[in-house]
Amino acid sequence: MNTNENSSEEKKVSLNFLEQIIENDIKENKSGGKVHTRFPPEPNGYLHIGHAKSICLNFGLANKYNGLCNLRFDDTNPTTESVEYVNSIRDDVHWLGFDWEEREYYASDYFEKLYEYAIFLIKKGKAYVCEMTAEEISANRGTPQIPGKESPWRNRSVSDNLSIFERMRNGDFPDGTRVLRAKIDMASPNMHMRDPVMYRIMHAHHHRTGDDWCIYPMYDWAHGQSDYMEGITHSICTLEFEVHRPLYDWFLDELEIKDNRPRQIEFARLNLTYTVMSKRKLLELVGGAYVHGWDDPRMPTISGLRRRGYTPASLRNFAERVGIAKRENFIEVELLEHCIREDLNKNSPRTMAVMNPLKLIITNYAEGETEILHGTLNPEDPESSTRPIPFSREIFIEKDDFMENPPNKFFRLSPGSEVRLKYAYIIRCDSFKKDANGEISEIYCTYFPETKSGMNSLKKVKGTLHWVNAADCIKAEVRLYDRLFVNEYPDETEEGKDFKHNLNPDSLVVTTAYIEPHARSYKAGDKCQFERTGYFCVDPDTTESLMVFNRTVSLKDSWKK
Ligand code: ATP
Ligand code: MG
Repeated sequence: MNTNENSSEEKKVSLNFLEQIIENDIKENKSGGKVHTRFPPEPNGYLHIGHAKSICLNFGLANKYNGLCNLRFDDTNPTTESVEYVNSIRDDVHWLGFDWEEREYYASDYFEKLYEYAIFLIKKGKAYVCEMTAEEISANRGTPQIPGKESPWRNRSVSDNLSIFERMRNGDFPDGTRVLRAKIDMASPNMHMRDPVMYRIMHAHHHRTGDDWCIYPMYDWAHGQSDYMEGITHSICTLEFEVHRPLYDWFLDELEIKDNRPRQIEFARLNLTYTVMSKRKLLELVGGAYVHGWDDPRMPTISGLRRRGYTPASLRNFAERVGIAKRENFIEVELLEHCIREDLNKNSPRTMAVMNPLKLIITNYAEGETEILHGTLNPEDPESSTRPIPFSREIFIEKDDFMENPPNKFFRLSPGSEVRLKYAYIIRCDSFKKDANGEISEIYCTYFPETKSGMNSLKKVKGTLHWVNAADCIKAEVRLYDRLFVNEYPDETEEGKDFKHNLNPDSLVVTTAYIEPHARSYKAGDKCQFERTGYFCVDPDTTESLMVFNRTVSLKDSWKK
């Protein structure tokens, strides 16, 4: 069998359903064969890994089909939105590796046009000003089985509607006293079609339009028209918007827009185990100081993952592997962790760091002498250079790597046993000392000069330990991050409790580590592998006098049952 043919065959079969739809639309020359997507965040919080999925999808499809992807802020609710969020979103999309060029748009760019569209609907008798309160409107909506009640204001004259709507815009009425509603069908089985609100009065300052407006369009009224105005061909959104689609179509129909209508396609949102994903909940964690801000390395935000040590490539790769589903599902967080391990294994320099130091003295090594050994920076990279590693009479090893009374198959250090010190020599443990509390405080060893790393010695040992030179190692702060929630599905709780009850009390442990001096050259954001321990990165909190490292992920999955 010709394997090449086979793989191109497989490729065809493995188009996801969005690609199938798009390829079909191109074939049928819909929208002139063009593909134009958009990523439409509301700037009311920081982006999370679910948004990263949507970004990769929208920009990815545009790239794949030689199309364009816009960044559009759906900024229709000034009370929850801010410039801080806008800026963080711009930074995050760029950091992920995507560029919207000059196509940065805002729903607020279209407020005037949307207002004109609303006037058009009022003139057609398809929209009316309703004076019921929000509570009354909701009480009269009915249920999916029971039709709603029509508003007493539903049959106002067109001229009354026009003049009152204009007065709403002019600021003649207080918040909450009037809304503009679409006149559709109070008995529709689709609740979204029961005369939905199009505009509400909000005397609120908007981060872009200032005090120009005191009526603001609802998301459902703004979204479809914004897509249309931008010439979006494929409006990709998450499943919960499937039931809104008839409303979006109704608006375009009644606006008599026939050509170049965006095609809405829904896919299942990304859900991750051990993670909450809604902005509202993330805001609650930040506001309630359960974490140290939106970019806390335990947060599933893009900025949190960045600070944690995730790379753009690892997130793009994750988004690709997750694929596109039509049904709600959960992705295991282990897949995300796998993607970053894979990337850092290939690309991060090796470094030795000791977390729980135990002093080890090499009694036959000359006092006051230091030699420089060499360690490969990256064994995965054949071109890798080496780093200088000082070695002398006194070093630190991990407490765990020594046992006074070891069980069978303990290949690390114990009285009389021999191990290799990575990049250095084989040593033998001769004796040890305990402190007043009975804790082991120092161990004494003999080294074998002929076993120097790289030399051909006949001596063989089963264990290799990492270590650092006592005299010149860096004493750094290390933040050991773990999963933020103990529960696989943090949103599932007992009656009367919320997701915060599932927070992991040990999600952050701050400790000190002793690190080989080469790490002094690492800058904020740099990543490395602490050998035998895990992947770490330098936190922006790092200073001249105190380096701070974050644990991105342990070397192996420690949660596996
Ligand atoms: P959340 O529900 O988390 O509060 P949101 O949907 O309100 O987020 P938006 O700013 O409206 O946030 O989302 C921008 C885009 O990102 C939308 O197109 C939305 O469908 C998409 N998106 C949001 N969450 C996810 C997710 N978990 N998986 C995939 N796409 C998502
Ligand atoms: Mg939304």
